[in-house]
Amino acid sequence: MLVAYFGSCLCGQIKYKVTSFEKDMAHCHCSMCRKFHGSAFATFGEVRAENFEWASGHGKLKSYTAHNGTVRKLCDVCGSSLIFESEASKRGGVLEIAIASLDEGSGLLPVLREKDVKFGGS
Ligand SMILES: [Zn+2]
Ligand SMILES: [Zn+2]
Repeated sequence: MLVAYFGSCLCGQIKYKVTSFEKDMAHCHCSMCRKFHGSAFATFGEVRAENFEWASGHGKLKSYTAHNGTVRKLCDVCGSSLIFESEASKRGGVLEIAIASLDEGSGLLPVLREKDVKFGGS
């Protein structure tokens, strides 16, 4: 059976579907993630591009490119953070998904062990 995880922004206009997550998941405490998310850290899960698709509302997506070239994709209506991309992630063919945007009952229960957590710095 193919498993799918569903996520969406706060207003619900943008929805996405993930069929498989990579094993890398990270809490990023960098100042940019803190400001962008308005929180102490942001948690991202890595997904290969072929395992990700927009289910609806793709047209509402807005991109913000920071001074270091990293791109954050957010909902133009409600401002929810959805995707993070860096040069390294683009080269690797992966997207970083803001895990908190997964819908309840999405079937994914992130289990973060200390050794899996990497900390970004900037
Ligand atoms: Zn929205
Ligand atoms: Zn960060």
